[in-house]
Amino acid sequence: DIFLRELISNASDACDKRRYKSLTNKSYVSSDELNIFISIDKKASTISIKDNGIGMSKEELINSLGTIAKSGTKAFLEGITKKKNDDNNLSLIGQFGVGFYSAFMVSDKVQVLSKSINSNESWLWESDGQSSFNISSASTDKPGTEIILFIKKEEKEYLETFRIENIIKKYSDHIPYPVKMNDSENKDKQVSLNSASALWMRAKKDITSDQYKEFFNHLGGLGDPWHILHNRTEGLVSFTSLLYIPEMKPFDLFNPERKTSIKLYTNRVFITDDCEDILPSYLRFIKGIVDSEDVDLNVSREMMQTNTALNKISKAVVNKVISELKKILNNDREKFEKFFNEFGAAFKEGIYEDFERKKSLLSISLFKSSIGDKYTTLDEYVARMKDKQDEIYYISGENIEQVLSSPQLEGFKSRGLEVIFMIDPVDEFWLPATPDHENKPFKSITKGSVDISKFPPLDDKKAKKSKDDPKDVEIENLIKEMKSCLKDNVKDIKISNVLTDSPVCLVADEAAMDMHLEKLMRQHKRLDEETKKILEINNKHIVIKSLAKLVASSKNKNIINDVSYLLFDQARIVEGENPLDIKKFTERMSLILTKSLEINK
Ligand code: ADP
Repeated sequence: DIFLRELISNASDACDKRRYKSLTNKSYVSSDELNIFISIDKKASTISIKDNGIGMSKEELINSLGTIAKSGTKAFLEGITKKKNDDNNLSLIGQFGVGFYSAFMVSDKVQVLSKSINSNESWLWESDGQSSFNISSASTDKPGTEIILFIKKEEKEYLETFRIENIIKKYSDHIPYPVKMNDSENKDKQVSLNSASALWMRAKKDITSDQYKEFFNHLGGLGDPWHILHNRTEGLVSFTSLLYIPEMKPFDLFNPERKTSIKLYTNRVFITDDCEDILPSYLRFIKGIVDSEDVDLNVSREMMQTNTALNKISKAVVNKVISELKKILNNDREKFEKFFNEFGAAFKEGIYEDFERKKSLLSISLFKSSIGDKYTTLDEYVARMKDKQDEIYYISGENIEQVLSSPQLEGFKSRGLEVIFMIDPVDEFWLPATPDHENKPFKSITKGSVDISKFPPLDDKKAKKSKDDPKDVEIENLIKEMKSCLKDNVKDIKISNVLTDSPVCLVADEAAMDMHLEKLMRQHKRLDEETKKILEINNKHIVIKSLAKLVASSKNKNIINDVSYLLFDQARIVEGENPLDIKKFTERMSLILTKSLEINK
């Protein structure tokens, strides 16, 4: 049924555009009321959807509809029509507004007859949805568009008037223009099938959740709305806003070209559908409309940015969205977590983009941490901080699995210290600009040194000194020896106070960029060279202890060199880097394996 909803939606947008144009140019005014007319021709097996909106020129027909020839869309449509009996598949179509192309789900052929209000010519566009399209000159004299669907044999049910009437009543009631058909009893009479009133102007109590959802889909929303904000604000600037936060993210949420899209109306007259000035880009997933009697009808794109009424509306709308999100976080945690799972990564862009609201955005942001797999807020983290802990420990990385396997986490885990996981790329950008949260500084555990010696280990057996521990001087000599092997491949070598199970790990120098950020920058070609890291060694680990003894006995220098490089490469590998020299790495690895197998023979 979706095809009809999509085509009526397009027709309604076309009427919106014509109504707006005609405000400034009398010649665009339609002598008839703007409307959408549906007719069925059973003999010819066609349904026609006709509007007297803005129409399309030849170029617009080619550019807007011509892309049907693109194989991607065609393949997608073929896929969904073939598996038509699968309910899941059908609901998928409903979720992804495939727009005009959905016409081909029920038609063998589609004709589009259109005349733009800007042109004297009219055109007939025709396609079977299989290959390309044809376009030829036509002779319509009134502006508008008529879409004629040649219904497939197996879809004949759509040629029944009652079937079409039901679909329109169900999906298109909110369309602000009359959707009409010929009366089935009296062919000369037309009947309107919808309420034709702007949904957002109706009282909340008079709108059913189905009607809200239909309007959400009309705006191009996917799936169901996760939350609806429908408000009337009176004051210096008065306006009505109907905003939807979707329940799932669109596939192109992180496409740099994706912009916020709020439809702007004044007194129900559509002004624009790409008003970027009401919502900031970090809220680009929100769909909706704003209707204000205080916005000038002639507001142009350029003027929008400086329009004071719009600025006031924007401020009020964004504050409303954030306070509503805060309320949901406090009252319905489960619901809020679903939202954050979908949109958190985009939402957190606001922490560095929206200086004014930075604090409130941070306070309602959620994070995963080293304790359990639940989300936590920073306030909750701070409340759980250990006695004498005055920093918010965090580790950044690509994903949970990667950070969980980080050796740098070991000492924190063994001391019961919680570490926040910063695993969205955006975290690397707001963190450097955000020194603290509620006066607790953020501290990366993979950069510089973190002194956690004041926190006792939970299991102090592991931490106790044992008889075979190398003497301090032996470790010092080991470090000296390793430095002379690894040379300037490392910035420094230090004894770690965070490792418990791994022999080595890398950390960034205190003054350098954090390791994960550096990696992101290199991936995006913003940085050419790797910076030198500090190699931390675990002087309680058997490999390090044995190596220290080997250095002390000054036997076999070669093996010390090989093991130093293998340890360094191991530390690189856990950071997701390649070994320094893959060929040498495999040679050293084989050598050590051979030796260890010989010993055990
Ligand atoms: P969408 O509506 O999401 O942009 P569609 O595939 O449904 O995608 O339509 C593509 C474009 O074709 C529209 O954006 C519009 O410019 C144009 N269009 C479609 N139907 C009409 C119509 N009835 N009148 C005028 N233009 C139309």
